[in-house]
Amino acid sequence: MIPEVDFRSDTVTRPSEKMRKAMADAEVGDAVYDEDPTTNRLEAMTAEILGKEAGLFFPSATQANLAGIMAHCGRGDEYIVGQTAHAYRDEGGGAAVLGSIQPQPLPNEPEGIIDLDAITSAIKPDDFHNPVTRLLTLENTFNGRPLPEGYVAEATELARSHGLSTHLDGARMMNAAVATDSRPSSVASDFDSATLCLSKGLGAPVGAVFAGPRDLVHRAKRIRKLLGGGMRQTGVLAAAGIYALENNVNRLREDHDRADRLSEMFTEFPELGAGQARTNMVFLSPDGVDMPAFAAFLAERGIITGAGHGKPRWVTHLDIDDEAIERVRRACKEYFGR
Ligand SMILES: *Cc1c(COP(=O)(O)O)cnc(C)c1O
Repeated sequence: MIPEVDFRSDTVTRPSEKMRKAMADAEVGDAVYDEDPTTNRLEAMTAEILGKEAGLFFPSATQANLAGIMAHCGRGDEYIVGQTAHAYRDEGGGAAVLGSIQPQPLPNEPEGIIDLDAITSAIKPDDFHNPVTRLLTLENTFNGRPLPEGYVAEATELARSHGLSTHLDGARMMNAAVATDSRPSSVASDFDSATLCLSKGLGAPVGAVFAGPRDLVHRAKRIRKLLGGGMRQTGVLAAAGIYALENNVNRLREDHDRADRLSEMFTEFPELGAGQARTNMVFLSPDGVDMPAFAAFLAERGIITGAGHGKPRWVTHLDIDDEAIERVRRACKEYFGR
C-alpha cells in the first residue's frame, strides 16, 4: 500500500523520531505540584517567546482558550468574539456551558477582522439590564490569514479604552509571525493574554500554552484544575513542545511555500477554483466538480482530503513534502483527463 499523504489539517502530523527521542529523554516530576522541570521550562520559554509574564501548559488549545476566557470573565459577563471564530463556534460553547459567560458573537469580515464600529456598538453600557462586557478575543491566523497589520492595534486599543481585556486565540500565531516576518512577541504584544497550540503546524502530538500576566495565569491554573486539565508527569509532552518551539517554527515557511506551490499547481485545473495560498492553507471553490467522487478518487491514490465532506481546505504541514504535491498533480491530471 502506498503511504498516505493527508491534507486535511496540520493536526495530523506524527511526532518525528527526534521529537520522540526528546520526549523519551524528558526529565519529569508531578506538574500539579509544579515539580515537572520540563513543563516548567516549556511554560517559561513560551512566556518569553510571546513576551508575557507567565505561561501555563494545557492539554489542548480549546481548554487553554476556555480557561483563559474564564480567567478574564466571571459569571454573567460576556466576551466579544467572531461569529466564525474557533473560540465561539468550534469549542462546544464551553464558555457559556461551563463558565456561565455569554458570548457576543459578531460577524467576521473575510480577512478575519471584526468591524470596529460593530465592536463599539456591542460593548454594553453600565446598565443592570445588560451583561458586563469584559473581553475581546481575536483569532490570528484566521482561516490561514494573518490579521491585517494595524487592525490588531486599533481593535485592542478600542477594547482597552472601554475597559475590556483582550485575548488572542493564536493557535496558529506562529504561522502569522513567519508569514509577516514578525517576532511572535509582537504578534501577541497588543493582547493581555494569548493561546498558542503546539499540535498544529508545530508538530507536537498534544498541547497548548496559555500566556499572560502572572495573576491571570494563576487564575487560569485554578480553572485548569477544575476542568480536569491538571496533569502529572507532563514533561514527556512538554518536551515535544520545547522541541517544536526550537525546531519547527522557522520551518513553517516551507509549509507556506508548499501551499503556494499547491495553489499554483491547482490553477492547471480551473474547475477547482483554487484561491491564493494563505500561510499553510489553500481553499477551493469548485465549480461543477463532483467533490465526493473527486475525494474518493484521490483517496484511492493515497491522498486524503476533506473534500468529500464539503471541506474545501487543503493544509500543508511537516508530513507534506514536494513529492506529495506532485502526487496530487498526477492524480488531478488523471481525474480531469489532461
Ligand atoms: C485548533 C484550534 C484551536 C483548538 O486547538 P486544540 O488544541 O485542537 O484544542 C483553537 N483555536 C484555533 C484558531 C484553532 O485553529
